[in-house]
Amino acid sequence: MTLNYVRSALALFFCAAPILAGQPSAQPSNPLSTQVTAVVMPDGRYSRAAIREMGREAARILKKSGVSLHWQLGEPAQGVDGLLVVVKLVGRCDMDGPPAFLVPGPLGWSHEVNGVILPFGDLACDNIRGAVQSARIAGDQLRGNVLLGRAMGRVLAHELYHMVADTDEHGEDGVAQPALSARELTSGQLELRPSDVAAIQSGLRQAR
Ligand SMILES: [Zn+2]
Repeated sequence: MTLNYVRSALALFFCAAPILAGQPSAQPSNPLSTQVTAVVMPDGRYSRAAIREMGREAARILKKSGVSLHWQLGEPAQGVDGLLVVVKLVGRCDMDGPPAFLVPGPLGWSHEVNGVILPFGDLACDNIRGAVQSARIAGDQLRGNVLLGRAMGRVLAHELYHMVADTDEHGEDGVAQPALSARELTSGQLELRPSDVAAIQSGLRQAR
């Protein structure tokens, strides 16, 4: 059996400028949508409020592409419908401790083997925390964790775009751009472009 070389690819950078088990997204289900379940695996401390917000934000972004995003903390106790992806949370995913240092680096990444994007992704929580803090938006803890969750949700949507569309391409703006600033991670709205939506829909059709 061949052991393929796995390279961390498609890293999303930023510019320096779960009690949740089985919880569905807040989005109403659409009969034309395809369920995608993200199994979230933290390897350190995390805020449940941040993870809830992460799922909500990623589901909102992806909804227009026909993805009905569900998420759950830890391995599913039973099989799930639709597509399954595993998302590892690397580092500390809460805003309750000492501030993170802003170090330019990847916010998240997916894995590619022989030109195929695998259903595994990582979010670099320490770097995302640094970006949220640099935006000077972190106020009280709840607000800080909700903002962290929003930023995590945007990074998650980016990586899910790669995985579902099975593409390593990036766009010039929106969720699929190769780098996101602290501001883009935390404020306003960040959306998929029409071409990103089409790529995801194509990926969903192939997966059915
Ligand atoms: Zn990317």
